[in-house]
Amino acid sequence: MTLLTIEGLSAGYGGAVAVDGVSLALKAGETVALLGANGAGKSTLLKAVLGLVPARGRVVLDGVEVGGLAAEKRVRLGLGYVPEGRRVFAGMSVRDNLEVASFAGTAERGRDLERVLALFPQLREKAGERAWRLSGGQQQMLAVGRALMGRPRLLLLDEPSLGLSPKVAGEVFAAVRAIAAQGTAVLLAEQSARRALAAAGRAVLLRLGRVVHDGPADALDAEALRTAFLGDPILGDPIPGGSESS
Ligand code: ATP
Repeated sequence: MTLLTIEGLSAGYGGAVAVDGVSLALKAGETVALLGANGAGKSTLLKAVLGLVPARGRVVLDGVEVGGLAAEKRVRLGLGYVPEGRRVFAGMSVRDNLEVASFAGTAERGRDLERVLALFPQLREKAGERAWRLSGGQQQMLAVGRALMGRPRLLLLDEPSLGLSPKVAGEVFAAVRAIAAQGTAVLLAEQSARRALAAAGRAVLLRLGRVVHDGPADALDAEALRTAFLGDPILGDPIPGGSESS
């Protein structure tokens, strides 16, 4: 069953186009890695799906056209979003950070909190601590946990491994796999291709705001990946400031 359909989605900043006519569909429960170099448009695409940047085109969530709706309404309809940079309320406790992210009634909120703490045992240990005391990895887990408190059917994750050690990034990706195993669809924007591909069933490669590849993650051809990250090998047009694949 198709959960999300994006058709001809374009978004930009001033006159500059960052996402250029992207069409994409996600099935319920599917994990899709959205890969591309620095500046390829991954973050902007996630923001456009959520309604955080003005966009043209269609965004349909579970049969409902959400393209004209405010971000908060889209969240209530089933989109969860974890922005780059793990935003949490630093002065609030871990438990409060999670509870204020819920719009469920008390009993359901308690169950949702338990589910998040089961997923992230490190957060259970620190439930009473203020969020600023957490490590970077734990803050990322808390940011993901906050999004889960809204019971998303689709989680939009922006660069969850950014700035984390390989070990901690591995823990975060293990949690992403566990979330997916519980039936939540995930659209995972990453520059770290290897880890994202290990967690995803499908890979979408973005280059200069356009989809240049969409297919099974395990069949992703190294050449397609290289081209998306570094430019066309024949035309030799590397992205200005583009980064290496990892
Ligand atoms: P990164 O991994 O660096 O986050 P990305 O693939 O997520 O890269 P975007 O952040 O979506 O890419 O950026 C796409 C393009 O839009 C880039 O050219 C970027 O410079 C530009 N851009 C992004 N945010 C803004 C902004 N707030 N104002 C102006 N231009 C922006």
